[in-house]
Amino acid sequence: MKNKILKYDCLIIGSGLLGSLLAISLIKKQYKVLVLEKEGLSDGAFSDQRTLAVNANSRNFLKSIDLWDKLNKKHVDIGQISIKTYLNKDELIFKEQDAMGSVIFNKELLSIAHKILIKEKSIMGNTFMHLDQLQSDKNFKIKNKDYVFKKIIIMGGKQFINQVDTNHFIKGDDSHKAYVGFFNHQKNHQNIAYENFTKNGPLAILPAPHKTNKYSTFIYSTQDTVSSNSMKKLIDKNFSKSHGKINLAKNIFSYPITPYLFNPKNKYHDLIFMGDSFRSIHPVAGQGWNLGIKDIQSFLNLLETKSLNSENFNSIYYSRRKFESYLYFSFTEIINKTFQLNTPLSNFFGAVSLKTLKRLSFLRSLFIRQAMGINKILN
Ligand SMILES: Cc1cc2nc3c(=O)[nH]c(=O)nc-3n(C[C@H](O)[C@H](O)[C@H](O)COP(=O)(O)OP(=O)(O)OC[C@H]3O[C@@H](n4cnc5c(N)ncnc54)[C@H](O)[C@@H]3O)c2cc1C
Repeated sequence: MKNKILKYDCLIIGSGLLGSLLAISLIKKQYKVLVLEKEGLSDGAFSDQRTLAVNANSRNFLKSIDLWDKLNKKHVDIGQISIKTYLNKDELIFKEQDAMGSVIFNKELLSIAHKILIKEKSIMGNTFMHLDQLQSDKNFKIKNKDYVFKKIIIMGGKQFINQVDTNHFIKGDDSHKAYVGFFNHQKNHQNIAYENFTKNGPLAILPAPHKTNKYSTFIYSTQDTVSSNSMKKLIDKNFSKSHGKINLAKNIFSYPITPYLFNPKNKYHDLIFMGDSFRSIHPVAGQGWNLGIKDIQSFLNLLETKSLNSENFNSIYYSRRKFESYLYFSFTEIINKTFQLNTPLSNFFGAVSLKTLKRLSFLRSLFIRQAMGINKILN
């Protein structure tokens, strides 16, 4: 006897910080969704040690799908952003009431999202899906059951990208690694986030969610090898004035940085690639996930006027997401290159850009509104 075919609207490959949220938003809109995750579900949720700077737009999105309330007491708000470079003593300060973001732990959001998907019976762990399988058909056998899907969405992040044809790639500078860790400090962090362009790479310090205001995280991107000792020295050198004495946690975690922009047109036109499967940018601007939230919002907006089956759905989606992705990819590559080169010309350019931003308040406002995801021009 033939198996019954299970009919679904969307198949989402990857239940990371973006795949899970797309699935929850679609379920809220009554779509039938299945998420496949190659890792075990709770293992995936607890291995990520990073924090996430959530901008104002993403925070509103999390509110719209009722997840923000669940992060109550598990987030810390950012009231000010301070940017400095080793090139001069100028400090660039961004302050925009309400528009600033918050910091959360990746694993908190992921475990809340996974719990919802498990409850909805919309996720399967330990299920690896290969690109070749996806291109040939929209009918699949998964764990001995037959499925058919209207739309297949790839949200497998950087790891999935290993499977695609790299002729469709623009690649950025992957010489950096990101080092992440935590520290207690003597003084209150005052809800200020810092980005210091040191000689050897950008060092960001973010307030981390904690019962005291004396706990922060660092994200240091560099080509150098990093140890607890060297990290403590670097933080002391740059932040002893603002944070006082620091006590660094023993473990430091490293993450590869592989910036790219993928063009799925032609060969992969039948699939939608979103989040880090579509583009990955250097974490210097803290925007990779925030851009992924915009991918999800764009997809949901398109669904209001086009059905999943409509022929030009994918090409319209990509045409809406291409420009901003290119902008962020190029911007993060240029600022990193500028501060890495350390030549007279690049130093001059770096110092002048910072001075210009400092002088022109409208440019500063435009810049911060874009970073917070609330600039209407590009939305
Ligand atoms: C150090 C660092 C700090 C960052 N900080 C910020 C920040 O502050 N703000 C910000 O906006 N962004 C930040 N980012 C970027 C952000 O982390 C990523 O953009 C985001 O996590 C991407 O989410 P994703 O769901 O696309 O991919 P992932 O989180 O990588 O999830 C992909 C999932 O798919 C699964 N998978 C992969 N292949 C398959 C397969 N074949 N079959 C089934 N499952 C599969 C994986 O196991 C994984 O669970 C940072 C990045 C780094 C490196």
